[in-house]
Amino acid sequence: MKASDHPVKPSRNMRSRPGNSPSRQPQHPSRELLTFMRAGIGTDLHRLIPGRKLILGGVRIPFAKGPAGHSDGDALTHAICDALLGAAALGDIGRHFPDTSSKWRGVSSLLFLRHARKLLQDAGYVIVNVDATVGLERPRLSPHIPLMQRKLARALGLGAGQVSVKAKTGEGVEAIGRGEAVRADAVALIVEMPRVESRKSKG
Ligand code: MG
Repeated sequence: MKASDHPVKPSRNMRSRPGNSPSRQPQHPSRELLTFMRAGIGTDLHRLIPGRKLILGGVRIPFAKGPAGHSDGDALTHAICDALLGAAALGDIGRHFPDTSSKWRGVSSLLFLRHARKLLQDAGYVIVNVDATVGLERPRLSPHIPLMQRKLARALGLGAGQVSVKAKTGEGVEAIGRGEAVRADAVALIVEMPRVESRKSKG
């Protein structure tokens, strides 16, 4: 249907904005949908020291320095874990994987991500998407990003288009810019799964 054929007469305001035909007006999500949607944020920072492997998103990146940390120090995976746990109000990575426990020493952080996925699943949530940014001065991360996205998506049981990873340098300033640290920030969107059983039993 062309905008001019639309049965609802547009208001003067709508007409005054270019390209704002009534058929293109965004529909407000229903109250029910808004209740189901939850967002979470996660952030992580590790100091870079010589002699440690640099692992981000489960990918080993050749470099002379790597993150100090109890596990593999994968800041990207840690930030995504916190975003997911935060979206479900399930605490944070430190609560589920305390660095005082020898159980987690040197383990792959993808294991944390798989565990976070299970916690969300048990709590009745489905992951919609994850978006993350890594701050690192050197080396360049762009050649490694497709593999990071695939590994993260696999650990979370998601499709490739549901996980986004971006990289930024620190422009030579602060801890990132001076090459002293790696930082990651992530957001996650999750939705509550419809509770078919309980609705049926009510009816
Ligand atoms: Mg960390």
